[in-house]
Amino acid sequence: MAVPKRRTSKTAKRQRRTHFKLQVPGMVACDNCGEMKLAHRVCKSCGEYKGKQVVSE
Ligand SMILES: [Zn+2]
Repeated sequence: MAVPKRRTSKTAKRQRRTHFKLQVPGMVACDNCGEMKLAHRVCKSCGEYKGKQVVSE
């Protein structure tokens, strides 16, 4: 099994971790109300999808 030759420096470790994102990917702003929603899903806050009201309020 391969073993790292050198310990990863604090800087290298921190630079790698800048790519770890807090938000779940696939979150987009709703076109209608601007709330964050999951892509390709009906907006939870206004019930809109692709410019149409899908879920009544
Ligand atoms: Zn919305």
